[in-house]
Amino acid sequence: MAILVLGGAGYIGSHTVDYLVEKGNKVVVIDNLVTGHQEAVHPDATFYRGDVRDKAFLDNVFDEEDITGVIHFAAFSVVPESMVKPLKYFNNNTVGMITLLEVMQAHGVKRIVFSSTASTYGTPERIPVAESDVQKPINPYGASKLMMEEIIHWADIAYGIKFVALRYFNVAGAKLDGSIGEDHGPETHLVPIIMQVAQGTRPELQIFGDDYDTADGTNVRDYVHVIDLADAHMLALNYLNEGNDSTAFNLGSSTGFSNRQILEAAREVTGREIPAKIGPRRAGDPDTLVAASSKTRDVLKWTPRYDDVHEIIRSSWLWTQKHPQGYSDFE
Ligand code: UDP
Repeated sequence: MAILVLGGAGYIGSHTVDYLVEKGNKVVVIDNLVTGHQEAVHPDATFYRGDVRDKAFLDNVFDEEDITGVIHFAAFSVVPESMVKPLKYFNNNTVGMITLLEVMQAHGVKRIVFSSTASTYGTPERIPVAESDVQKPINPYGASKLMMEEIIHWADIAYGIKFVALRYFNVAGAKLDGSIGEDHGPETHLVPIIMQVAQGTRPELQIFGDDYDTADGTNVRDYVHVIDLADAHMLALNYLNEGNDSTAFNLGSSTGFSNRQILEAAREVTGREIPAKIGPRRAGDPDTLVAASSKTRDVLKWTPRYDDVHEIIRSSWLWTQKHPQGYSDFE
């Protein structure tokens, strides 16, 4: 009995693999290493290098391993890139999901937890946004994920493949001992960029816009620690294993922080100056994204343990200090 994690060498995937292995699960990882790092994969997980769109490859892994549940992270996730390369997103994310579901169906594997996103809501009609609210993406990344949710819904109706869609808000932080963390090339996310500025490898932070409809004019986001996110994936798989029905859950803390507030928190945690300036808006950014998370807390019994941006930033800072060049520091 093994849990298959697609995209297990990526940022959130590698933290989830680590968490599942430490909880005693047998874990099989698939990753094409286009954005992931093999060094991030727990050594006790079985690793296969390959692409989620490669059906013959997937078939082979499902033949070799006794897979009882799937966690699917293998997707591109950079909003601004998706605005200029939409087909890349629909191809990898949406087509990848179709291939995976075909193989799951052929092998009789009926449970999948997958990474959806708050971007499926677009500009929410109300804040905090609840799972039942309208989903109307304003960027191709969000659209590609919403299509994945819809496809899997129909696969459930037709083939009984039960799913949990976890709609992530903003994920940040690192394993608490700083041994694995966030490392994208090029980096686009707010917290790791701030860490690079604090560390001195990037001259300054550019805050994308201060004329949004928020208290200080900068975007407001809801930050979740990557370890709490990993825990939610395990709870979601247990939920399916208990025979519950397919559904979606928001993964957010229900507290919003503006980009300026994140910068201030990072200055406090690191004790560094962190030079910053205001730049133009970035395409595809809604004003505010904050989760209603009561369904996740009530149904999955999810209790975020690191529910404070200072703790999130502290773990990122430890990872950054231990591995100033990210995974290129690993031998
Ligand atoms: N952001 C910023 N400067 C940067 C990177 C990000 O001001 O160098 C802002 C971005 O516009 C958004 C927030 O930080 O308002 C979070 O962006 P990120 O890319 O980390 O995550 P996303 O919300 O796109 O998933």
